[in-house]
Amino acid sequence: MTHVRPAFQPKEMRSPRPSPRRLALLGATGSIGRQVCDLVERHPDRFALHAVIAGTDASDAGRAARAIAEAVSDPDVDLVVVAAAGAAALAPTLSALDAGKDIALATKEVLVMAGELVRQRMRRHGSQIFPIDSEHSAIWQCLWGEKEAAVRRLILTGSGGPFLRRPLETLESVTIAEALAHPRWKMGPKITIDSATMMNKGLEVIEAHFLFDVPYSAIDVIVHPQSVVHSMVEFVDGSVKAQLGIPDMHLPIAIALGFPERLDGVTTAPDLAALGQLSFEALDAIRYPAVALAREAGERGGTAPAVLNAANEEAVALFLKGQRRFVEIVPSVRQAVESAAPDEELTLDTVIAADRWARAQVRTTSGGTSRVRSELPA
Ligand code: MG
Repeated sequence: MTHVRPAFQPKEMRSPRPSPRRLALLGATGSIGRQVCDLVERHPDRFALHAVIAGTDASDAGRAARAIAEAVSDPDVDLVVVAAAGAAALAPTLSALDAGKDIALATKEVLVMAGELVRQRMRRHGSQIFPIDSEHSAIWQCLWGEKEAAVRRLILTGSGGPFLRRPLETLESVTIAEALAHPRWKMGPKITIDSATMMNKGLEVIEAHFLFDVPYSAIDVIVHPQSVVHSMVEFVDGSVKAQLGIPDMHLPIAIALGFPERLDGVTTAPDLAALGQLSFEALDAIRYPAVALAREAGERGGTAPAVLNAANEEAVALFLKGQRRFVEIVPSVRQAVESAAPDEELTLDTVIAADRWARAQVRTTSGGTSRVRSELPA
């Protein structure tokens, strides 16, 4: 098969790209990490694992964190794959950027917590981020060959998760198992719960803002239950480009790792005739208040998105331990975001402080009132 070279090129393409590309993989045991290992095994001519880091909390200030910083900055590493869960991925990502490394980023929390910091480091060191998140991979692909001025808005699709059709009044009794049963994607527990609340889509709005440098007003969300259209870009002439694929993370991983080449046979293409129908619907703001909440935090800027992210991680963790109800997750996050101190200047220290404050805030306050419940007709 001939590989078509996309017209879009990053500004500072380091060439020649070595083959195999040597990867440092942060977060090897999670769902994305295991799929990265699959791809490396299937393409030994293209990729080699130079360093594999798993199971250590990189947010520690201790020896483990220094070892991780060294591993991701190693001169022999060509690309750092960041797939560790949540906030723990921030410090090693900044270390890798400081060493001028390009990053394939699966952990959206890094951009949510500290998007502005990440952007500063990228500019300073000429490094780049290739998104692994499927929606952002779709947008990235739609932008290949396009001019910035031609883009009118980004349209993120979201499946709506397992509770798209569930009567609102029964959300009160959602069990952990029900929330973990995502209809389309097989993912880790934290992101699966985020998909059920659609906080995942809210975090992705913030992620898209920082990745593509687009104002929040030009980022929309639409519900698409089949998860075949992974996202879209609308252009100034009224044209809309979409990227389609079956829900399989191997594809966005392969695109981020292999860029600017496409790898042969990563996954099967969707059979549209067999699918028959693709449907779209407006986001229901009462069912999914997390999206507007995330957007508010994003627009407020400073450490507000870091508070949102940490409060959400903590509330989800408590739900998974059976210590919060499903309907208490988003109100807990809102309570933290609304009672956070006026936004501070964004530095690694203020981000970490905001993160700790928000976690403690969620742990020490009870779930808060359920907005879903309070907005239901009496
Ligand atoms: Mg996604």
